Amino acid sequence: MMVMIILFLTIIFFLYLKNKKTKNINYVYINEKTKKYHLEGCPYSKNLKQISLEKAIEEKYIPCKICNINKNYT
Ligand SMILES: [Zn+2]
Repeated sequence: MMVMIILFLTIIFFLYLKNKKTKNINYVYINEKTKKYHLEGCPYSKNLKQISLEKAIEEKYIPCKICNINKNYT
């Protein structure tokens, strides 16, 4: 019984984290030269245009490697 409660709480916690994460990446920074988009906090996101992630994907921008690596750790 106790195990079930812990499992349940763990699932809720992960769902909460997932929601929090997606909220943070609603906006990205696009580099029109390299056709890549960057997340906030990426060293390459400085002085770039900010647009929504949806629009960036729509316009065929690809995610920056460095941002993706960082994203996995946060
Ligand atoms: Zn980046």
